[in-house]
Amino acid sequence: MRRITIYSPNCYTYGAMTVGGVLKEKFKDRYDIKLVRHLDNNTLNLFLKSDIVILSLYSTLHILDNKLKEVIEFVRKQSKKRDKNIKIYVGGPVSAYPEVILGEMKVDGVILGEGEISTPNVIEGDREGLAYLENGEVVINELKEKPELISKPLIPKDIGNQNIRGANVYIETHRGCLGNCTFCQVPRFFGRRIRSKPLELVLEEVKEFKRKGAKRIAVSGGTGSLYNFKKDVNKSAFIELLEGIGNIVGSKNLSVPDMRVDYVDEDILDAIKRYTIGWVFYGIESGSDRILKSMRKGTNREKNLYAIQLAKENDVKVGGSFIVGYPGEREIDYLLTKDFIVEAELDDVFVSIAEPIPKTELCNLVLKTPLEENLTFKPHMGGYRRFNLTESEARCLDLMLHGEQWKPKPSVITKKKFLLYLNETKRQGEDIRNITRLIFRYRNCLM
Ligand code: SF4
Repeated sequence: MRRITIYSPNCYTYGAMTVGGVLKEKFKDRYDIKLVRHLDNNTLNLFLKSDIVILSLYSTLHILDNKLKEVIEFVRKQSKKRDKNIKIYVGGPVSAYPEVILGEMKVDGVILGEGEISTPNVIEGDREGLAYLENGEVVINELKEKPELISKPLIPKDIGNQNIRGANVYIETHRGCLGNCTFCQVPRFFGRRIRSKPLELVLEEVKEFKRKGAKRIAVSGGTGSLYNFKKDVNKSAFIELLEGIGNIVGSKNLSVPDMRVDYVDEDILDAIKRYTIGWVFYGIESGSDRILKSMRKGTNREKNLYAIQLAKENDVKVGGSFIVGYPGEREIDYLLTKDFIVEAELDDVFVSIAEPIPKTELCNLVLKTPLEENLTFKPHMGGYRRFNLTESEARCLDLMLHGEQWKPKPSVITKKKFLLYLNETKRQGEDIRNITRLIFRYRNCLM
């Protein structure tokens, strides 16, 4: 039997599992399909025994991963030596920028967009849904068709050992987002129309995940309450979804991380309280209305505070995520964010430095900003100077510490915690600078 190996770095993403499931269904008599998440010797051996290797990549950083590049090089050399012709493709959300992948990685092609239709096409030798190099030029054969969400994922045996922010798996109940945030890939990759998986299929899948050892389930996908959105938020569909999953795994094992502040109300929060671990996570991003407008977030400080208050009144814990170092973020905008955190008293705060994902509006904005004005490159000259940080890093660290101090029950910042945040901040800064240098190298095809 021939073999296809799908590699999803560090964790089994739902996308990689979905592609695995589609291939298993379609080619079960011709190919043995394996899904792996560690780049170790076992995986390398598996690659060498495969006919096709699919690298399912979900972060721009994977494109810059030198270890992965070395593995690709090694597999290519061995494949040639053994006269085997192992094909290596890249798929996943990074396929939105095939020019960058084909410029950086020596692969046979990039499987474009949502993988359910394009991946089987490519396996069959068809070039529809594939980007590849021909005489040094990038050829992109885009597939316009969007798949229906009816495929069953391939669930690996060790799914119960996986831990993604506390959950064994993030399941997908729908794709697309009505929002249009400049920094986000979701509406660009999946579109702005909401496509939902039928409830019976979601519940069947959850039972299967449980049978295979997954205990804790998180619902992912843009923003949770848009499940089955037609002309308006279909609250009852979302509530039924939570009730159904909660009844299978138990409320202590279900979470719905992402919510847009303008798509929650008392009924939705009540369902979150009853059927899940009782937390909502809002993408607040900034306390400055000027920055929220520039991010096209479609919300403002007042709406954000209202949604937080509503959650608290319904006895639901609230986490908020924030972005610092967005192009044009002035000192005053940052201070407004700090002020927002004081007023909001969030139960948890997550801070990220603005990441220019290629082909997003933010990427364009970063490309138009000279590096000496880019806050993630500009040295910080204020109170954190001795830590040798850039301005974005200093704001990131400061906001993490500030968030801790303004929780309803403030926690002590120990030296250990401080160092943890400092290292996390520096890692983020380094990653974003590497991504920024990458997009500058490909600016001609990204703008
Ligand atoms: S609301 Fe969330 S998922 Fe939708 S575009 Fe904005 S950040 Fe992305």
